[in-house]
Amino acid sequence: MINYLYQEQNWQSQLSDLITDPLELLETLQLSPDQLLSGAILASEQFKLRVPRAFVEKMIIGDALDPLLLQVLPHHLELNDHPEFITDPLGEEQANQQPGVLHKYKSRFLLTLTGACAVHCRYCFRRHFPYQENLPKNEDWINIRNYIESQPEVNEVILSGGDPLTLSNRKLKLWLERLESVPQIKFLRIHSRVPIVIPNRVDEELVSLLKNSRLRIILVVHSNHAAELDDFTCAKLATLVQNQITVLNQSVLLNGVNNSAQVLVDLSYRLFEASVMPYYLHVLDKVKGAQHFDLASNEIDEIYKEVLASLPGYLVPKLVREIAGEKNKTPLFGVSTF
Ligand SMILES: *Cc1c(COP(=O)(O)O)cnc(C)c1O
Ligand code: SF4
Repeated sequence: MINYLYQEQNWQSQLSDLITDPLELLETLQLSPDQLLSGAILASEQFKLRVPRAFVEKMIIGDALDPLLLQVLPHHLELNDHPEFITDPLGEEQANQQPGVLHKYKSRFLLTLTGACAVHCRYCFRRHFPYQENLPKNEDWINIRNYIESQPEVNEVILSGGDPLTLSNRKLKLWLERLESVPQIKFLRIHSRVPIVIPNRVDEELVSLLKNSRLRIILVVHSNHAAELDDFTCAKLATLVQNQITVLNQSVLLNGVNNSAQVLVDLSYRLFEASVMPYYLHVLDKVKGAQHFDLASNEIDEIYKEVLASLPGYLVPKLVREIAGEKNKTPLFGVSTF
């Protein structure tokens, strides 16, 4: 877009200068305020608009249907009620073992250190999750450590969120050292959208922190469209890979954003150019307020068949759904045929 200012600006100031006003967002993109039908402002009060300017710079000026814009712009249909779309579709509230700990799968559990995200994705399945009551304090570490030691099958901790890369390097280092001190932990996974929406978050300090850890680090970024991956972003992701960090991508299949085999094929190739491997393609979780992103299962099937036929196997993300109570994500393609 305009002048790539964000490449020069440190991530902390970008994070404290997000666009949160829908009208400002439209004005920046030279779109008419009429794009916001009545209800959209109320929707943005319920789940606040939040988007870094570096991400807005990747949107196309004047395009009301820009696939990046549609992911963040509040929509009047969010207020509609639908019996299948509920506030906690994954039953996460029951799975909470300790403050910050969400342990549903055998070898690994989620550790939430912050409820904050750099961007608010309108389809997010955690948009109604009561984070603030659930964050671990420093004194909770001893209980988390005891909990890990009571679960000998656990070898991986997943920092999830909120978005863990909104935390300072100092705070990340503290938790990294805590986890490194537990011998059974071999892998540390970080689920984050920040490197996509504020690429400067991948600063030297972060790279060296991750590179020098005893733990094997896996960063799972979240990108849904190749337009999110400009050269600057790709270079940052490639830097991580050059420093022995495994970088994977997960996407969500979203009506209006990436419900096209060509868009998904382009995304996979673009990720690979940045040395990032496609990991998951999630079917939308049925969360209240996200109905307008939903797709019919026959459309999903057709898109995915074409993706399979178009890409080499190593660039095909696994199509999965998360089903409350299941012990892993459920693969959605071809499983009933053997
Ligand atoms: C997705 C998820 C994981 C990680 O699953 P992988 O299949 O290993 O990526 C772990 N715990 C929970 C609760 C999850 O939702
Ligand atoms: S960055 Fe991730 S957790 Fe945060 S709003 Fe987007 S999808 Fe949800």
